[in-house]
Amino acid sequence: VRVFIVHSHHEPKSFNGAMTREACAALQAAGHDVVVSDLYAMGFNPLSDRRNFVTIHNPDRLHQQAEETYASQQDSFAPDIKAEMDKLFWCDVLIFQFPLWWFGLPAILKGWVDRVFAMGRVYGGGRFYDHGVFAGKRAMCSVTIGGSAPLYSEHGLNGPISSILFPINHGMFYFTGFTVIEPFLVYAPARLSQQDREDHLKRYRERMLELISAPTLSFPKLADYDERRILKSAARTIGCGPSPNADHACS
Ligand SMILES: Cc1cc2nc3c(=O)[nH]c(=O)nc-3n(C[C@H](O)[C@H](O)[C@H](O)COP(=O)(O)OP(=O)(O)OC[C@H]3O[C@@H](n4cnc5c(N)ncnc54)[C@H](O)[C@@H]3O)c2cc1C
Repeated sequence: VRVFIVHSHHEPKSFNGAMTREACAALQAAGHDVVVSDLYAMGFNPLSDRRNFVTIHNPDRLHQQAEETYASQQDSFAPDIKAEMDKLFWCDVLIFQFPLWWFGLPAILKGWVDRVFAMGRVYGGGRFYDHGVFAGKRAMCSVTIGGSAPLYSEHGLNGPISSILFPINHGMFYFTGFTVIEPFLVYAPARLSQQDREDHLKRYRERMLELISAPTLSFPKLADYDERRILKSAARTIGCGPSPNADHACS
């Protein structure tokens, strides 16, 4: 199995750092191939602008998706983006390793997605969700969270962790065709005992060895939606479809 870990933490001695080292050791010992993009160590530039491209399609106005489509045709992405795309297309399993920051990805990792998940190459032309470019590959979030698990439970103060990770699991991974592995979560690592932290690292090592069989999240397929992109089953329930004339179905 070829595993690509996009690692997003500025401190090598962090728990995130320990998790990525543990993952690499486990995968390599089992004979798998692993590549890590350590974004801070690489000094990865998260700013998305004309430096994404070595060509210019429209010099008057920067329209990112139009330039991305052109660069896909011309094979003219900047070398730092091209290198990351090559790893994406190489891997069987993609892992985002990150601490939860402000209910989302650290900016450097969000910037990586903004630049690397480019129209024309990674999505576009009807290639999305179960018809996505990366269909057949798997992806997983491995996340440390400052707060404790009850805070992120169904009725917890911060709301369910599944909702917080939805933009990543659904909007990034599934959107581009990945099958999404259930996230690996470590709550409040700074407040755990050393033994509990080591137990999590052991659990993570085990997860590395079952990436191909680990449970996945279930999302509807494109065929489950009607022509307005509303779930057919829900449209029936709320009484506004299905209808061949979508504009008038709910009016
Ligand atoms: C900008 C920002 C925004 C944030 N937003 C949120 C938010 O929205 N929600 C939220 O819940 N939290 C939030 N946090 C908190 C953040 O999610 C946690 O601080 C982070 O997830 C903890 O992970 P870490 O790797 O940084 O842990 P660390 O603090 O680096 O490590 C935790 C403990 O593990 C120990 N450790 C390291 N290596 C090992 C090892 N090999 N074996 C055993 N122990 C080890 C460390 O020494 C330390 O004691 C935010 C933090 C920041 C800075």
